[in-house]
Amino acid sequence: MEPKVTDIAVVGGGPAGLFAAKSAAEHGTNVILFESKEKIGFHEHCAGLLSTEGLEKIEFSNLPSEIIQNNNIIGARIYSPSGNLVTVSKNSTTAYVVDRVRFNQYISSLAIEKGVEIKTSTNVLGVKRNSKGLELQTGKRTSSAIIQTKIAILAEGRFPKLNAQVKLPSPPRKRVIFASMYVMSNIKDIDSKFVEIYQAQKFAPGFFAWIIPIDDESAKVGIGSQYSPSGKYLEKFVLQHPIAKEKLKQAKIEKKTSGAIPLSSHIKRTYTDNVLVVGDAAGQTKPTTGGGVILGGVASRIAGEIAADSIAANDQSANFLSRYEKQWKKEMKTNLFVMKHVRQYLNTLTDKETERLFLLINKPKIKNIVSQIGDVDNQKRVVFRLLLKYNLWPFFIRTGTKYLLKK
Ligand SMILES: Cc1cc2nc3c(=O)[nH]c(=O)nc-3n(C[C@H](O)[C@H](O)[C@H](O)COP(=O)(O)OP(=O)(O)OC[C@H]3O[C@@H](n4cnc5c(N)ncnc54)[C@H](O)[C@@H]3O)c2cc1C
Repeated sequence: MEPKVTDIAVVGGGPAGLFAAKSAAEHGTNVILFESKEKIGFHEHCAGLLSTEGLEKIEFSNLPSEIIQNNNIIGARIYSPSGNLVTVSKNSTTAYVVDRVRFNQYISSLAIEKGVEIKTSTNVLGVKRNSKGLELQTGKRTSSAIIQTKIAILAEGRFPKLNAQVKLPSPPRKRVIFASMYVMSNIKDIDSKFVEIYQAQKFAPGFFAWIIPIDDESAKVGIGSQYSPSGKYLEKFVLQHPIAKEKLKQAKIEKKTSGAIPLSSHIKRTYTDNVLVVGDAAGQTKPTTGGGVILGGVASRIAGEIAADSIAANDQSANFLSRYEKQWKKEMKTNLFVMKHVRQYLNTLTDKETERLFLLINKPKIKNIVSQIGDVDNQKRVVFRLLLKYNLWPFFIRTGTKYLLKK
């Protein structure tokens, strides 16, 4: 059988793969995207909380209204382990909650408009080099096909199988956070303008729990945990957390999802001859919150552009494709580095130290800094400003020394 031939093959139809495919097609190349699930968007495992600044960055600020579940998030209510509350907010909308199935389907419709061919129910099982570039083997158990491509953009999500086949690293399995989430209705005492974050090692070891409102009585309720199965921690949070259980007592579970988030920060190398890696498969997620749609989206857009440029230049060497890594690192490397250390530092704090940190942050001047310059996608700004506050120094020196000694 003759292989099907394309310039660029994208593996994975999550947001990263879809953004990369759309961006490459916008630059005039042939693109085929392969998704193993029957339909785009069916691999739903995300709360869909996306910052408005981030959406602007990926040129998605004008989302169709049917995708947006809540366009009114102005801040966060953060609970300490003992229930002390810090509220941070801005004067206007800072984030949207989106329906992630529809969001993926929307990016896919834009990609198709630009000429991307999308093949669902098609698993890419293997990738081999040959004299013309790469040969991908696709198929399920009973059928298979060969695709000849000049470039593969790998966007398989958090447990990629193909990175290793092209001798690129994968996000380490032991550094993932396991996450479970319910969509719940009939919740009491939530405010559709505020995301609720619960910091408590007992309920969400190594991460946090969240209530992300869709409206004033329904929300996405989830937890992340360094231990599996995370579903047990979510059950415990819903039934036993002293504050959350009161809100969720009468609530009904409408839907359950679960997934994993790579928290180790990006992989060491994201390109080689004929190959680029994007999204969760490249560890392009925020180590502090696990959000990956915006960062993966920014990197994927760059990947699509560079892949298209390399087709135009007839050069798919690692040397040419290294421009992708240079550009995405320029956009976010420092930020990812800072967030990685903030997450690791926060994980070394005892509940008592976390309480102390909450008390320190709950001072008007400090809260003002967090409210005004806090940005969920660019957390280095707020971290650097907080490091300049002298009254936080004794706390940071004591706990920071402990963190450095543990490393
Ligand atoms: C519970 C939870 C809540 C989250 N909440 C948020 C949030 O609020 N905001 C945010 O920004 N991020 C959030 N995230 C993270 C976000 O979901 C991911 O960062 C994002 O989905 C990554 O996109 P991706 O395209 O890299 O991977 P994925 O979304 O995982 O997509 C990968 C796709 O590739 C397909 N695939 C894999 N292997 C193959 C193959 N060999 N052949 C063909 N197809 C293949 C899969 O079926 C899948 O559709 C959350 C994650 C979890 C687990």
